[in-house]
Amino acid sequence: MSCPICNKDTAEGFRPFCSKRCADIDLSKWLGGSYAIPSDDPDDLEQVIDELQNNKPLPH
Ligand SMILES: [Zn+2]
Repeated sequence: MSCPICNKDTAEGFRPFCSKRCADIDLSKWLGGSYAIPSDDPDDLEQVIDELQNNKPLPH
């Protein structure tokens, strides 16, 4: 079985994902609803993480 996000081998503790990153990406997909990952390219995944982090509201 491989990670549904990036197709790497899954890791103990993060099944069915390979890492917390991919678990977070999958979770954000569910939470975001309309959010779509551009591709399976790992570079794009980095971009997705950056965008998710940048979407955090700024403190006043
Ligand atoms: Zn993965």
